[in-house]
Amino acid sequence: MGLTNTDLHSSLKKYFGFSKFKGLQEKVIQNILENKDTFVIMPTGGGKSLCYQLPAIMKEGTSIVVSPLIALMKNQVDAIRGVSDEHGIAHVLNSSLTKTEVKQVKEDITNGITKLLYVAPESLTKEENVEFLKGVPLSFVAVDEAHCISEWGHDFRPEYRNLKSIINRLGENIPIIGLTATATPKVQEDIIKNLGMTDAKVFKASFNRPNLFYEVRPKTQNVDGDIIRFVKQNQGKSGIIYCLSRKRVEELAQVLQVNGVSAVPYHAGFDAKTRSKYQDMFLMEDVDVVVATIAFGMGIDKPDVRFVIHHDIPKSIESYYQETGRAGRDGGEGHCLAFYSYKDVEKLEKFMSGKPVAEQEIGNALLQEIVAYAETSMSRRKFILHYFGEDFDGEKGEGADMDDNARNPKKKEEAQDDVIK
Ligand code: ADP
Ligand code: MG
Repeated sequence: MGLTNTDLHSSLKKYFGFSKFKGLQEKVIQNILENKDTFVIMPTGGGKSLCYQLPAIMKEGTSIVVSPLIALMKNQVDAIRGVSDEHGIAHVLNSSLTKTEVKQVKEDITNGITKLLYVAPESLTKEENVEFLKGVPLSFVAVDEAHCISEWGHDFRPEYRNLKSIINRLGENIPIIGLTATATPKVQEDIIKNLGMTDAKVFKASFNRPNLFYEVRPKTQNVDGDIIRFVKQNQGKSGIIYCLSRKRVEELAQVLQVNGVSAVPYHAGFDAKTRSKYQDMFLMEDVDVVVATIAFGMGIDKPDVRFVIHHDIPKSIESYYQETGRAGRDGGEGHCLAFYSYKDVEKLEKFMSGKPVAEQEIGNALLQEIVAYAETSMSRRKFILHYFGEDFDGEKGEGADMDDNARNPKKKEEAQDDVIK
């Protein structure tokens, strides 16, 4: 390629204003610049976008970025446009564009101006788009949020399964870049198989979050009281409390307010205006606490969330990791407290019983893992990382003392009881 590391660094500085690469970014980018298939597994916030954005800008031709959400695509396109004089450097191709807009996009691509073309899988599979893209020079296809391919992932999207056959039609030997924050080996296998990436070089960052403290407490009748006490002990700090149902979200937010905690509720049942009002109140620190369903969090980047409480056990370790991952993004304190009762597990099982059998089987298997996490007496960090296929030294690893079990190891007999039960 003839590109030196100095070239890479100066491009990083020039286009993104950063003076250093984060983690594995530089190695990933070098691999992409060598036109090799590349599989990137990094936690949320790890800096995956730059792994394809920078080589896209540096390479000849247009790169296609497949992404599941229009909002995510728009954010990225705006950000890229901000670093270039060329408005057409990045485009989104979707069905909401007018004929004139589509014409402009195609012109920019044909003229070699567009370096990043963001598409949802639905748009990429459209025949007219395939026909057009077949005729233009493409640098690579990046499949962001690649876990959407797998039924074992938390966001399965059937359209993602057709990507490989479309990519094959776009040209010969177009490199594929898969990116995900899902670290489970099952999902990774699915991605590699589905995208035909058996020869891809895999770059996997550690998922350890050493600054997060993990704790599980038994859920009693008085769980609200326990939560109020915890929040009051952490007065003035930002926190998220996740509940399973919208009803519980509203009740708990009210209970907190009555008890003098500044809290807002958040769930998908509120209209968009209300949702963004509550979200802003949390982000601007008009309130300390947001009580929410899992509808809250995607794309929210508040670096100083100091605690994440789970009023109900989540449906998988994957979800738990993502949701608790919103704590301590700034590297500071982040307390992750889950309340656990087997009754809640039964509720989740019942909830799943109306679904297709295959989905139920997967759902139950995932649920059993989170139950095992809640009931374990071993290092919780080790448990989570093991689930993600990562070895963690429970004695000396970074953050080894940062969970309830590590701080208060159970006596041998009690631990034995755990195993037998
Ligand atoms: P991911 O997709 O892995 O969740 P993003 O690509 O959204 O992560 O990046 C997360 C944040 O990290 C963004 O705010 C981005 O600007 C920032 N970032 C990425 N690379 C670097 C870098 N080399 N130096 C500093 N910040 C970076
Ligand atoms: Mg991302």
